[in-house]
Amino acid sequence: MYEFLKKKYGQNFLIDKNIIRKICNLISAKHLNIIEIGPGDGRLTDYILKYQPQQLNLIEIDEDLIPILNSKFFKNDKIKIINEDILNYPLIEKVDLIISNLPYNISSQILAKICLMRDPPASLILMFQKEFAERLLNKNLNSLNSLVGCFYDIKNNFNISKNCFRPIPKIDSTVLQFTRKKKFLLNNNELNHFIEFKRNLFSHKRKTLKKLLKNYNLDPAKFDLGKRVEDISLNQLIEIFREVNL
Ligand code: SAM
Repeated sequence: MYEFLKKKYGQNFLIDKNIIRKICNLISAKHLNIIEIGPGDGRLTDYILKYQPQQLNLIEIDEDLIPILNSKFFKNDKIKIINEDILNYPLIEKVDLIISNLPYNISSQILAKICLMRDPPASLILMFQKEFAERLLNKNLNSLNSLVGCFYDIKNNFNISKNCFRPIPKIDSTVLQFTRKKKFLLNNNELNHFIEFKRNLFSHKRKTLKKLLKNYNLDPAKFDLGKRVEDISLNQLIEIFREVNL
């Protein structure tokens, strides 16, 4: 039944209805403006609809799945089916919630894209491969959580066994819930420089900050430069960034 699914689009469909219900139970309110990334054949969508969204945009790259979605949802005028690559889709509409069983191969690009939205959604409910979720939740800083942590608080909800998917993937998944911070740690105009700055630091993460930032005249009394970037807090990283980005 699932042999038509495409590996190149990360198509591992969730077959366990209890788990689908459990994910959708995380939706906090009715009548939200929602985007679902990668609806597949609409199995999660069916349950999202129980929350009577104000608007539900489905963004699905695979044109072969569009007729299935059309025939399932053509009567629902709250649903818009968009056959596009999420990475090319201009995320400019006002959205309260993005929900998705994400295509695992582009999870990190999608997260970065959401963080770079002019007005990121108040809430995200996203499913990742377990190891990817662990990187996001890691107490130590990494290239991924140092960006997302500027915008969202992340809560670990539950793991999902790989046996709940078809075809069965290699590893289990984890559902995370993201709540937008009241005040972002970075201003919009700092974002691109910060991304470049942290990319440089994390690509040499074994070196101390002292070595990496030797060209800047940083005050050793103010910053603990003997540490590696993964051993400082996000607030400290942003302080250092602001000091060198003057
Ligand atoms: N929502 C279904 C479920 O929960 O079973 C399917 C989830 S499956 C893991 C990922 C879905 O994302 C697939 O339907 C796939 O075609 C779609 N997808 C993959 N890459 C995409 C992209 N770049 N833009 C939009 N959708 C994409």
